[in-house]
Amino acid sequence: MTDFDLVPAPETTAVEIADAYGHLIGGAWTSPSGNRMSSINPANEEVLTEFSVAGADEVSAAVGAAREAFKSWSVLPGRERGKFLFAIARRIQERARELAILETMDGGKPIKESRDVDIPEAAKHFFYYAGWADKLRFAFPGREVGAVGVAGQIIPWNFPLLMAAWKVAPALAAGNTVVLKPAETTSLTALRLGEIAQEVGLPPGVLNIVTGAGETGAALVDHPDVDKIAFTGSTVVGKAIAKSVAGTGKRLTLELGGKSPHIIFADAAIDEAVEGIVQGIFFNQGHVCCAGSRLFVEESILEVITEKLHRRIQTIRVGDPLDKNTDLGAINSKEQWEIIQGFLKTGAEEGATLHSPSKGEVPKRGYWVPPCFFTGVEPAHTIAREEIFGPVLSVMTFRTPSEAIERANNTPYGLAAGVWTDKGAKALEMAHQLKAGVVWLNSYNRLDAASPFGGYKESGFGREGGRQGILPYLKVDG
Ligand code: ADP
Repeated sequence: MTDFDLVPAPETTAVEIADAYGHLIGGAWTSPSGNRMSSINPANEEVLTEFSVAGADEVSAAVGAAREAFKSWSVLPGRERGKFLFAIARRIQERARELAILETMDGGKPIKESRDVDIPEAAKHFFYYAGWADKLRFAFPGREVGAVGVAGQIIPWNFPLLMAAWKVAPALAAGNTVVLKPAETTSLTALRLGEIAQEVGLPPGVLNIVTGAGETGAALVDHPDVDKIAFTGSTVVGKAIAKSVAGTGKRLTLELGGKSPHIIFADAAIDEAVEGIVQGIFFNQGHVCCAGSRLFVEESILEVITEKLHRRIQTIRVGDPLDKNTDLGAINSKEQWEIIQGFLKTGAEEGATLHSPSKGEVPKRGYWVPPCFFTGVEPAHTIAREEIFGPVLSVMTFRTPSEAIERANNTPYGLAAGVWTDKGAKALEMAHQLKAGVVWLNSYNRLDAASPFGGYKESGFGREGGRQGILPYLKVDG
């Protein structure tokens, strides 16, 4: 809450949500099965709907449908495949409001983020890869390109529709067919994507969607007739998947965790940097793989940065995600809320100082963590090493650029990094030495369908977005 109050501006909840959903297999929806899981609205703890849990049989049926559809989809001229992708993109735009509301109700993120980021970016990915569908031979000149086969795609809960788009769009553009498994807490918009596929007449079996939790995901990974696995999620599960896929000949891309550093030099434009830091860690409640969760501040400006962060955090509005004024919504699930609480406790126990300057109360029900930061953090502290996946920033200091590099790179992860400085040469040198898939200079969390994204080390391998993002879905000869 800020010093002044805004009138509440709630978005409508007039969207249709069925009591229970089945799977999309071979172009038809199955009846909701007996084995179900509830989807909770994390902002009020009410049950939104129930998703069916796919067992090995349903996963097999979906893979079978994808295999059958592959025969004709993979040989369809690229321009024809492209038309379907364009149609999906347009339909996402047409249904944008409904999708944004569902994303916010199901996942807890502020409506202004679902509306302005998740849904438009999802449409953009389909538009972008639609453009590649008939130009694949130009992407890899002089070489023969063909689809890989059936892709099993497993996605997390932080950007439910956007992660689906990141994975489905390049796969279909390249002529593969897909079995998608959304995250158990946020399957609603992925299922709407299935509806959209039907609305635009995508041939049956080209996109199949099965819901469920880890066991359903594992059944998909282990299925012998899947040619490629694409996974975004935790490093623990990613490592388990890498083990099961090893030696099977299946292709694999992994986009895993991060503990991304943000480095701010004394010569930086301080107010812009503070804004970038705030966006870098508090966007989507910190539920972002590339969240800038470790802040390295040049020692001489620690005090001014801490004070400005303190003040800026007081203006972040925490509360009802459906309110258009809300900046920071609900934590996605009780489980994740408990994980974050554990880190807050450990941080304090290990000797760091917690600053949680938010004013005002959070709602009585739901899962809330006001934006906060720790100072007095040592590199050995748990909060400096482990991914928290919440709105919690760890502030540390450095004296020289080489110390900043050493400390920033001292992590098993390597997804992203941010550098704030007025000096171009310093910025480029830092970017060169930081071991991260993406380095943002004087900005943060800037993503685009045309530019590749992905990690080093335990943050995974393979790229999504851009020309590089279609490569894992293609066989390129010659
Ligand atoms: P997060 O910590 O972000 O929830 P997870 O790695 O647990 O990440 O989950 C990401 C996705 O992976 C979800 O769709 C989840 O259901 C799925 N998943 C979880 N465990 C497994 C597993 N053993 N094999 C395949 N998929 C899994």
